[in-house]
Amino acid sequence: MKTPMKTIVIGGGIIGASIAYHLAVRGAGVTVLDGGNRGGIATPASFAWINSAPGNDRIYHELRLKAILDWHRLQQDLETGDEGHDLPINWHGSLWWEDDPSDVESGTATAAARGYPIRLIDQDTAQAQEPYLRTAPKVSALSSIEGSLSPVETALVLLDAAVANGAQVLEETVESLIVDGTNVTGVRTESGDKMADCVILAAGIATAELAAQAGVIVPMDNSPGFLMQTAVTTPLIRGVTLSPGIHVRQNADGRIVAGRDFGGGPAPDDHVAEAQMLLAGTKALFSDSDGLEVETWTLAQRPTPADGHPIIGPAEGVSGLYITVMHSGVTLAALVGRLTAEEILDTGPVDVLEPYRLSRF
Ligand SMILES: Cc1cc2nc3c(=O)[nH]c(=O)nc-3n(C[C@H](O)[C@H](O)[C@H](O)COP(=O)(O)OP(=O)(O)OC[C@H]3O[C@@H](n4cnc5c(N)ncnc54)[C@H](O)[C@@H]3O)c2cc1C
Repeated sequence: MKTPMKTIVIGGGIIGASIAYHLAVRGAGVTVLDGGNRGGIATPASFAWINSAPGNDRIYHELRLKAILDWHRLQQDLETGDEGHDLPINWHGSLWWEDDPSDVESGTATAAARGYPIRLIDQDTAQAQEPYLRTAPKVSALSSIEGSLSPVETALVLLDAAVANGAQVLEETVESLIVDGTNVTGVRTESGDKMADCVILAAGIATAELAAQAGVIVPMDNSPGFLMQTAVTTPLIRGVTLSPGIHVRQNADGRIVAGRDFGGGPAPDDHVAEAQMLLAGTKALFSDSDGLEVETWTLAQRPTPADGHPIIGPAEGVSGLYITVMHSGVTLAALVGRLTAEEILDTGPVDVLEPYRLSRF
């Protein structure tokens, strides 16, 4: 009998968790190592909107669209599996409007021309989509294919499902990669050396530093992202709401999450003031919200490759090392998990991942 491939996944965020599940379910030996942040670092701080919003180039749009559909595939797979794991995904779509309706009209037209399920809707339809909006926009776009998920809970479900399929998840920090010439053969942790046929880097912003130990340069341009979270409240927001200056959604647990920037901006100086500003923005949008209170806020770096697109694939010139680092990791995780597992365990490269190789830099 063929010995199963032995893999080590560094990182237990949404990307590492998905890869671990997909490897384990295909019979690989999997050890996930996470330095104490099971569920990730960027992942818990994510707005967690699953989308292929207007503005992405054609090829990347196709990847994101596949990725949205792959969450449905994974949801089915887990719900009908022996363990019956539920994924906390909200499929109520997203409602988007701008101060200048022509921005929404042109973005919607471009996306709809690609067959993306997004359409312009009137005020009554917007009100029906989000019944608690104080004033629904006269013109907005509804993208019914989009969703959002509870990021940490999803990562933990995937890790549990990986364990149910034979994976090991250990709370250990990888101190270094073990490199033998041009071969990565394992990792070194406090508890000793662990050897593997393939080491998968899914370490978020720490990926570049770890890869550098094998002489692999991963160009990154991370940027901070701040979100406010309210205490648990009654259901107020059905889907994702993207209004001028603020985006808001409600988690499965009843907490409302709000932010105002999708990347690029500096971190706010005054976190309390920023959180209060996002709370006020949320209250201004939704009725029955007077009792909302800030419970907490998150500030994390978005793991973003230098050209904004994911880096996925074997490290060139070094065997035994596979790299996965990206923004929009929540949108992409189900697909990335499935395709990377296929690529690592099967013979050939997966064509849809070709545009995302490190060698493009
Ligand atoms: C504010 C904000 C908003 C966002 N909004 C969206 C959105 O709406 N939609 C979307 O798709 N994406 C969004 N993103 C991006 C998305 O959250 C990330 O792309 C995704 O969470 C990355 O997951 P990850 O598993 O790669 O990284 P992480 O969640 O950071 O996990 C990496 C893990 O690696 C572990 N690790 C690191 N170094 C080591 C080591 N040496 N040894 C062991 N373990 C190690 C860490 O402990 C951590 O748990 C957002 C991000 C932020 C910050």
